[in-house]
Amino acid sequence: MFEKVLIANRGEIALRIHRACREMGIETVAVHSTADQDAMHVRLADESVCIGPPPAKDSYLNASAILSAATITGVDAIHPGVGFLSENADFATMVEEHGLVFIGPKPEHISLMGDKIAARQAAETLGLPVVPGSEGAVASAEDAAHLAEKIGYPVLIKAAAGGGGRGMKLAPTQGELLEAFKFAQIEAKASFGFDAVYLEKFLPHPRHIEVQIMADGQGNVAHLGERDCSLQRRHQKLVEESPSPALNPEERDRIGRLASAAMSQLGYQSAGTIEFLYQNGEFYFIEMNTRLQVEHPVTEAITGIDLVREQIRIAAGLPMSFGQDDITFSGHAIECRINAEDPVTFVPSPGVVTDYHAPGGLGVRVDSGLYSGYRVPAHYDSLIAKLIVHGQTRNECLMRLRRALDEFVIEGVHTTIPLHQRLIGENDFIDGNYNIHWLERYVGNEEGRAE
Ligand code: ADP
Repeated sequence: MFEKVLIANRGEIALRIHRACREMGIETVAVHSTADQDAMHVRLADESVCIGPPPAKDSYLNASAILSAATITGVDAIHPGVGFLSENADFATMVEEHGLVFIGPKPEHISLMGDKIAARQAAETLGLPVVPGSEGAVASAEDAAHLAEKIGYPVLIKAAAGGGGRGMKLAPTQGELLEAFKFAQIEAKASFGFDAVYLEKFLPHPRHIEVQIMADGQGNVAHLGERDCSLQRRHQKLVEESPSPALNPEERDRIGRLASAAMSQLGYQSAGTIEFLYQNGEFYFIEMNTRLQVEHPVTEAITGIDLVREQIRIAAGLPMSFGQDDITFSGHAIECRINAEDPVTFVPSPGVVTDYHAPGGLGVRVDSGLYSGYRVPAHYDSLIAKLIVHGQTRNECLMRLRRALDEFVIEGVHTTIPLHQRLIGENDFIDGNYNIHWLERYVGNEEGRAE
């Protein structure tokens, strides 16, 4: 097993990884920007190294600074967390070239799934159903129009290098196609430096259902059930739950098996998430994330399996500590993402947290690096805490969530807690009756729809 691991990330996820390492008797090295020198994970880590100024490109995305820190501190492995360099195949390769272990999948699988066009093709080959659309990249607006005519409007133009909901444009009719195509290309180029786009049929009212996979690259693959992440704003998830209120046992079993079989055929290793849209009883692959997901705790809650620990064990060459038949799915879990944002306008709200009190009690988990006096920096993602509740039934879970949200105190910055409190009183949420557009209609922010 590793003796020392470098955590190439920040915020709650860095703390999450630190905790797993600690429980495994592994020393940790935190790397941080100057904006994060007082962060909780930096305080708790055995060692810390400042790797640059606040902008992510100069610190958390600065591969050479991170590798230098790894060399100086003599770590065995690097955990990339989520975001930043976690899905950067070049970084994974560089880590290996430095004689260190990248705690994640093989670089070739990161690149394959990072190119959404190649990922679509791979998914089809691996027997996963995909959204009807183009076979590869669409070279011109004329080609796009030709194809859209065949599959039917509305269609989405998506960036091959897309992520975080960017580089995705909706063409409701042929009249809007040219503009959607142009804008998608421009946004793709500006955001990702790569303007290849492809076309997909726009599904009008799907749910976002994703399957958690774990594989050890030694022949063992298991799925850990699904997460329903349909409550989104601007394609960003805000609430996630498992199991999905929309699936019946047969559908759950079917998609879990399909996802496992696909990963087995691919020879995948480590944690991964296969994302699908689900509508009228059918699943459609949209993408695969070759990393840990922000919402992984809901899966941990219902399976009792520590996904980060398992990732570390697998990276260290150990076989998986469980097989499919060892997994028992128990109860229901919901996660609320608490962002430092105005709960109505969603404008980021950095600043000093003047008072902090986290809820607790049976079935309540809070993943957060916050404390009283902590300054939420303006430079990064606004996620400051995740509240995960677990109950024996969905109803118990909802009651517990309401009580935990009421106990949560975060003063000094605006947060999305009031939005979650409102949501939990909505009949559609209580009934599990929502799709990917529900939240945007609810918050009255329709311009955020797949425009
Ligand atoms: P990203 O990589 O930017 O996250 P995804 O392909 O995962 O992009 O899609 C993000 C979200 O956009 C999905 O969860 C869903 O809400 C919406 N979406 C994506 N593809 C479609 C589609 N074909 N039809 C309708 N909505 C879609």
